[in-house]
Amino acid sequence: MITSFVSPRLLVMGGGSIGQAASVLAQLGLSRPLVVTDPWMVSSGTVEKLLAPLKAAGISYGVFSDTVPDPTDTVIATGVAAMQGRDYDCLIGFGGGSPMDTAKAMTILAAAPAGAKMRDFKVPAQANKAALPVICIPTTAGTGSEATRFTVITDTETDEKMLIAGLGALPLAAIVDYELTFSVPPRTTADTGIDSLTHALEALVSRRANPESDEYALRAMRLIGPNLRTVYHDPKNAAAREAMMKGATLAGLAFSNSSVALVHGMSRPIGAHFHVPHGLSNAMLLPAVTAYSLNAALPRYAEAARAIGVAGRDEGDQSAGAKLLEELSALNRELAVPTPAAYGIDPAKWNGRLPTMAAQALASGSPANNPAVPDAEAIMALYRRAWQG
Ligand code: NAD
Repeated sequence: MITSFVSPRLLVMGGGSIGQAASVLAQLGLSRPLVVTDPWMVSSGTVEKLLAPLKAAGISYGVFSDTVPDPTDTVIATGVAAMQGRDYDCLIGFGGGSPMDTAKAMTILAAAPAGAKMRDFKVPAQANKAALPVICIPTTAGTGSEATRFTVITDTETDEKMLIAGLGALPLAAIVDYELTFSVPPRTTADTGIDSLTHALEALVSRRANPESDEYALRAMRLIGPNLRTVYHDPKNAAAREAMMKGATLAGLAFSNSSVALVHGMSRPIGAHFHVPHGLSNAMLLPAVTAYSLNAALPRYAEAARAIGVAGRDEGDQSAGAKLLEELSALNRELAVPTPAAYGIDPAKWNGRLPTMAAQALASGSPANNPAVPDAEAIMALYRRAWQG
């Protein structure tokens, strides 16, 4: 059997590793980066943690900081314009998933013929070409985007959050420094942490799972399960932050080589239509979608429960699966995850958009990877169930 596994060429991990940014560039033969980041990273001074070691090494750089949460095709076009006429030899995506995905999409669009649009690259197209290599430095734990062959971009004409996949979106290198996450507020800590947990769980139960991705998914869950509540309540806990950061990257490797599934397929339309942060919309769906899918892959969900630490090593699948469902609901309560209604979404708008959201979820391909494969009716029923919480 022929298998393939993708990952960045170089992963530098650990507290203080951001200080090695210049030597990472040097190892890769790169010296003229455009740093792609968000306005908060600049206004808070956080970007200096990257720029200072670059300056100290005599590296000249540019900064593009006009990225937005849930990056849009229009911002990507602006970013590509900022690359043009300059002699950059790489992009550094510095921030949460949004700046990292922006850098990845910029390099894909910049490699395309004039007039190309981001929507030309949405799945099932393959985005394999990149104009410049991308180095990712995550500041949330997290999307795992630093280790994946994906970028997620919103089409502003159709309000669709498009999944874009291919080697063009795979970073050349990543620097994963958990100390950058100490400043992440509790709400974002919870949302991004549940995102990582969802990546690992969906990678494990996906129809595209394989022995290699399983190892990364289970290891990620062993790190995330016991530490997610701790980082929410105790943001300065270094050991827990380190475990979550490592877990997020390993979960990224897991789903990049397996896939995500129904939770992500249904989550992207909630983000696109109602501007709910990505991890939060995952969390709103996770208990209902897991209950729907449980019996189609019970042994795998039971293994996840054992890895997360809510079921004993010798516990039977039925009991472990039930404990996983209890844990996902308990986690949402403890991390104060609102229902879509409590988040303030207008019920008429929610119900009116369900057919479009179900169609967009199906078109992304992610639901087809789920252990139980739903049709549009089943997806709409799950959205209604998530509405009630
Ligand atoms: P984000 O990048 O949008 O950041 C959320 C907020 O947190 C922003 O206001 C940001 O300024 C702030 N923030 C980031 N780091 C901080 C820090 N260290 N301290 C204080 N504040 C900080 O959020 P995200 O959840 O990291 O990324 C979400 C995006 O990633 C979505 O667009 C989602 O679709 C995408 N995503 C991509 C992949 C992939 O494989 N490419 C996987 C999952 C999600």
